[in-house]
Amino acid sequence: MSDIKLTNTTSSAEVRELTRLERIGAHSHIRGLGLDDSLEPRDVSMGMVGQQAARRATGIVFKMINEGKISGRAILLAGRPGTGKTAIAMGLAQALGEDTPFTTIAGSEIFSLEMSKTEALTQAFRRSIGVRIMEESEIIEGEVVEIQVDTPAGGGEKTGRLTLCTTEMETVYDLGAKMIEALTKEKVTAGDVITIDKASGRINKLGRSFTRSRDYDATGAQTRFVQCPEGELQKRKEVVHVVSLHEIDVINSRQQGFLALFAGDTGEIKSEVREQIDQKVAEWREEGKATIVPGVLFIDEVHMLDMECFSWLNRALESDMAPVLVIATNRGIAKIRGTNYKSPHGIPIDLLDRLMIISTSPYTEAETKKILIIRCEEEDVEMAEDALDLLTRIAMETSLRYAIHMIIAASLCAAKRKAPEVQIEDIKRVYSLFVDVKRSTQFLMEYQKEFMF
Ligand code: ATP
Repeated sequence: MSDIKLTNTTSSAEVRELTRLERIGAHSHIRGLGLDDSLEPRDVSMGMVGQQAARRATGIVFKMINEGKISGRAILLAGRPGTGKTAIAMGLAQALGEDTPFTTIAGSEIFSLEMSKTEALTQAFRRSIGVRIMEESEIIEGEVVEIQVDTPAGGGEKTGRLTLCTTEMETVYDLGAKMIEALTKEKVTAGDVITIDKASGRINKLGRSFTRSRDYDATGAQTRFVQCPEGELQKRKEVVHVVSLHEIDVINSRQQGFLALFAGDTGEIKSEVREQIDQKVAEWREEGKATIVPGVLFIDEVHMLDMECFSWLNRALESDMAPVLVIATNRGIAKIRGTNYKSPHGIPIDLLDRLMIISTSPYTEAETKKILIIRCEEEDVEMAEDALDLLTRIAMETSLRYAIHMIIAASLCAAKRKAPEVQIEDIKRVYSLFVDVKRSTQFLMEYQKEFMF
């Protein structure tokens, strides 16, 4: 692919793994949006509780992203602190799967001494744009071309068809349906290269082997190795990998080199490098070698951005490769950073105008309790029912996040007492050791005089 370098598959996968790791922690219990097939939110599912309207709306966004309909659109998640805005964004990321790039940043991360605000935004944007690169490859003799397993109408045994690439007619075997199950268990998939010992019927794959036993033959001959017609032995297209535009930028940037991807220390990237890459990607797209996968850029605490960033975002969204922008804020009417103008959510009117707004609402006591139960399971903490009730009351009076943080601390207290589960006394102890924001401010106000002198 000419002079533009691409990362090898392993390194890009590792990089994606790293970015995924950063997202676990507070939201590690979220495994998706918890919607059913018609995109209706289930009450409690995939770690998600309640917040039905916002999840329903996000389900529609999910569908639009999946169908590639809303590249360059922007969604605002607005709601009070701790109402699940970040959780919903994470659920969306999970639902979209690994092949859709999903980048998370907080508004405040844009400001650093190492790079300009717009460079930081550009990098975040390009991290959220995937390039799916197809490479041509030849089918090799002995390669499993496809495996199909269907259950015939009316149930009964599975039937299967396994197409093995071969030019020899003798390798066409009739095998029982269980054979294909065995193949599946052995994780033989299309693309693998296998050999068959004709005398024993043994299938070898990656050094391992298993025998076609009598048992396999007993169910009737539905599974067959089929000879590939000559034509199919020719070249075919194969999806190789999805890399982000940012990864391609870094690998091709002289000053950086691909190791910077692991260090996370990419510095600024020259605009000429990006122009060249954009041009090359456009060529690949025309030649049918690559397609663009617009991903999602999630900016939390978006009110931390200033006018310059907002105007950059407004313009960047016009690009045909732009990802879907999801932003979140817990501010109502607020000053736009760096100005004296007040605006809803601290966002300028022209950007507000293009946003689809999803609002999140506070949780009921029952929903709060369910979230706390899920977090206890996630953190592997056993908690007595009355302790859980007390924790729920604390969450309602302070904040959900404060209560979530108390779980692990209380379990350490219980462990210190050698108790098998968290009891009310552990919750009380943690409540007195770690103050919540309300008590902390009250405390400061009461002792203000002493603090101030
Ligand atoms: P802020 O405005 O302060 O950033 P937020 O609205 O983004 O808050 P989250 O951080 O998403 O709130 O929620 C706080 C905690 O509660 C997180 O650990 C989150 O995973 C969990 N949580 C929130 N809503 C739900 C939900 N509906 N189901 C399950 N867990 C949730």
